[in-house]
Amino acid sequence: MPRHIVCLTFDFDTQSGFIARGMTTPTPLSRGEFGLVGARRILALLKSFGLRATWFVPGFTIESHPRACEAVVQEGHEVAHHSWAHVPPAQQSREEEEADLVRANEAITRLTGRKPRGYRSASWDLSESTVDLLIAHGFMYDSSMMGGDYLPYRARRGDRVELGKPFGFGEETALIEMPISWSLDDYPHFEFVRTATTVLPGLHSARTVMENWLDEFRYMQQTVDWGVLTYTMHPYVIGRGYRMLALEGLVKDLQRAGAVFMTMEDAAKEAQERMFTS
Ligand SMILES: [Zn+2]
Repeated sequence: MPRHIVCLTFDFDTQSGFIARGMTTPTPLSRGEFGLVGARRILALLKSFGLRATWFVPGFTIESHPRACEAVVQEGHEVAHHSWAHVPPAQQSREEEEADLVRANEAITRLTGRKPRGYRSASWDLSESTVDLLIAHGFMYDSSMMGGDYLPYRARRGDRVELGKPFGFGEETALIEMPISWSLDDYPHFEFVRTATTVLPGLHSARTVMENWLDEFRYMQQTVDWGVLTYTMHPYVIGRGYRMLALEGLVKDLQRAGAVFMTMEDAAKEAQERMFTS
């Protein structure tokens, strides 16, 4: 029997990403604050469809907006790790990264009563230490890399990379990678971001993006008997009205097409059973 899994994932950053980038004037902060409005809308949408999702919640959001995070837990969703301060690991020393990892673990454990099983890095940029740290701290899965699309795989450590030399694969670890893609993330499609040196235009048609996202599911159905498709969204991005309508349409289309919705933790467990244990 073919089985095609969809993970709806929400990175509940609120103001953390703006603060991590030094955008601390009132308007960017308010842009992140809109995530509280978006989160309420997303929770209502998920409830109306009876779906459980995975929320990657920075420790910052848990400690700044406890009631909004308690609502996520009360609705039965998975809360997974998304750093404390939303600083990309690639910009941190190993010590800084581990301290932030532990602090966020403690915030999640206080919120949910259990340690998170899954991790997604801020801005999807792991350091050379991240995989080792995740294993050392008991994580089952990571969702920050792009080496596949429908099939989870084992995260590696110690890849050998040197300019002018062939790529050397490092050893596979027990950590399950639940792959992601910028094309399946709401942020680059929708957010208008202007800095001194760059402009991210964003503001694309929500329906067009959802058509692309549905085609990813259709292609998964055509090409594999079993697979996991992960969509990444941010409450302050997808929570705008016309995007919520488009997301509702996508969920209906996915249901009609036979998608099996589950949390990423459950999908990673299924991947572990199917792919990694003989
Ligand atoms: Zn984030």
